[in-house]
Amino acid sequence: MDPRVEQFMAQIIAKNAHENEFHQAVQEVAESLIPYIEENPKYKHAKVLERIAEPERVILFRVPWLDDKGEIQINKGYRIEMNSAIGPYKGGMRFHPTVNLSILKFLAFEQVLKNSLTTLPMGGGKGGSDFDPKGKSDNEVMRFCQSLMTELCKHIGANTDVPAGDIGVGGREIGYMFGQYKRIRNEFVGVLTGKGREYGGSLIRPEATGYGAVYFAEEMLKTRGDSFEGKVVTVSGSGNVAQFATEKVNQLGGKVVTLSDSAGYIHDPNGIDAEKLAYVMDLKNVKRGRIKEYADKFGCEYYEGKRPWEIKCEVALPCATQNEINEEDAKTLVSNGCFVVSEGANMPSVPEAVEVYIENKILYGPGKAANAGGVAVSGLEMSQNSLRLSWTREEVDQRLHQIMKDIHATCEKYGKDSDGFINYVNGANIGGFVKVAEAMLAQGAV
Ligand code: NDP
Repeated sequence: MDPRVEQFMAQIIAKNAHENEFHQAVQEVAESLIPYIEENPKYKHAKVLERIAEPERVILFRVPWLDDKGEIQINKGYRIEMNSAIGPYKGGMRFHPTVNLSILKFLAFEQVLKNSLTTLPMGGGKGGSDFDPKGKSDNEVMRFCQSLMTELCKHIGANTDVPAGDIGVGGREIGYMFGQYKRIRNEFVGVLTGKGREYGGSLIRPEATGYGAVYFAEEMLKTRGDSFEGKVVTVSGSGNVAQFATEKVNQLGGKVVTLSDSAGYIHDPNGIDAEKLAYVMDLKNVKRGRIKEYADKFGCEYYEGKRPWEIKCEVALPCATQNEINEEDAKTLVSNGCFVVSEGANMPSVPEAVEVYIENKILYGPGKAANAGGVAVSGLEMSQNSLRLSWTREEVDQRLHQIMKDIHATCEKYGKDSDGFINYVNGANIGGFVKVAEAMLAQGAV
């Protein structure tokens, strides 16, 4: 490791003990940024990197709620307000039993650079709870969301901090949280994004992250004169991002052959077409069932406890969770001919896997660039709420598409090596950093 990175990381680890995911995210960024900062000493003197690695504010609170048996349950609620240099804090809420400070700080840190890349005026934040919506009734989810918002509403606002969805937080949860915020604060404002269409949501928001990851992959393919036409694609996850990534791949002429959940994956060599995808959406979003049921329904293979990276493909779209592709998985992907990885999920590839991609010079779009479409359309939802207007589906999709092209161009500008290879990791990290750093310099030691 570069000794300057090592020295910087020693401080981060000392100050944030046991926060492994946070260390991982900061180190990846530091490796790109420290050489750049050495060449641009104004950022070094102002300690911009040290400052962006420290949250502006961390809010941690108790969330008590009554289950259907009348028993009190207690969860933790969090909001990390990471950086507001270029706009109000913005980032999703995650409800999953694995949620802890380390995971939310890594996500909030990534979010700062991601939001900057979108070109929209949004700072970075993230939040959530160790609450597990799986197996809970709608009423239990509602009571939990109301209790969480009873505290969270003191800290957020349309011009302060605007949460959205993430793992375990979809339209249902956003609706319950919005209702409680409105009731307590007595104001109808765009304090959350990912809202239903009837009460201020934007068209294309549900689709945005998955569509965006595919648009980004399409731009990467174009740099080699290629397209999705006829490509075999593996997708992990079967939630919001995975579903709409699959839909967009189908529209562009590719064939998605896998989907997964935390229990295992299905392999459908004939492709998950529109009809089968409609079944998945109903299974996951309405019935809240398991992906195994797809294999029973359509007569394909199901692999319990495994991940889809052993299946031969040309394009891989990890859309489930962090650290879901290890070094071995990455080697298997590359040796099977995969040459495009576009991350719908946040930090799905471990650092050793990223090294495999870069060494083999494949087209690798890291999450903070490739999955920025979700927050970009959240930004467009905020604009529409402020204007009290709603744009058409075509208009929002066209803006999303343009933003993904612009993010690709930024990565190319800051990430192109002397041999012409585009290192999208450096491109996204430096491209996202510059705007935030300039704003922080202008605002002084805050
Ligand atoms: P969902 O909750 O809709 O779906 C998550 C999917 O990933 C489910 O299939 C889930 O399976 C699977 N999954 C979750 N945790 C694990 C795990 N530990 N191991 C294996 N599989 C797991 O979430 P989203 O689709 O919204 O989010 C997916 C990823 O995309 C996350 O990394 C998120 O941060 C990222 N992202 C999401 C954005 C958005 O707009 N929603 C924006 C940008 C990034 P199961 O049902 O079994 O838990």
